[in-house]
Amino acid sequence: MGFSSKSPWLIHYDGSSCNGCDIEVLDSLTPLYDIERFGIINTGNPKHADIFLVTGSVNYQNMNVVRHIYDQMLEPKVVVACGVCACTGGVFRDCYNVLGGVDKVIPVDVYAPGCAVRPETIIDAVLQGVEVLDKKAELMRAGKLETVTSEDYAARLAASSGEAEKKEVGA
Ligand code: SF4
Repeated sequence: MGFSSKSPWLIHYDGSSCNGCDIEVLDSLTPLYDIERFGIINTGNPKHADIFLVTGSVNYQNMNVVRHIYDQMLEPKVVVACGVCACTGGVFRDCYNVLGGVDKVIPVDVYAPGCAVRPETIIDAVLQGVEVLDKKAELMRAGKLETVTSEDYAARLAASSGEAEKKEVGA
């Protein structure tokens, strides 16, 4: 684990899921798994949070909630997709209203697989997220951190899917 000059605060949102991973996130906060021993604190306020934990897939109804939480967080920030549904859409990926994993709407820094994701995996992923956070903080101090809003991200995805389509038709 990298050195962090502050205790990272995390915020959690559960998207379209069976709630299994949501419960595992709560488990990681209990005294048994005790993510707080790493100085990590849970908050309900995106403006106070450094790490965004998302469980469940993204659908047309919750996509703007995910974007809104992400955009309210201040830089530097890190997103962790927890569980297969958050990573790829999982068992919900073929549902009529599901877009897929979290990276369909916001950039993801760390993927924590599992169905359900284990609390140990969540803790490992959050600690990886702390390292990413430290690197981003360094870039920010040097004035080199690129800020990506959910709108920028959507534009990039649209541009890259346009490029992919062009390649497919040989343009
Ligand atoms: S990854 Fe599995 S346990 Fe987690 S929300 Fe999806 S279906 Fe439920």
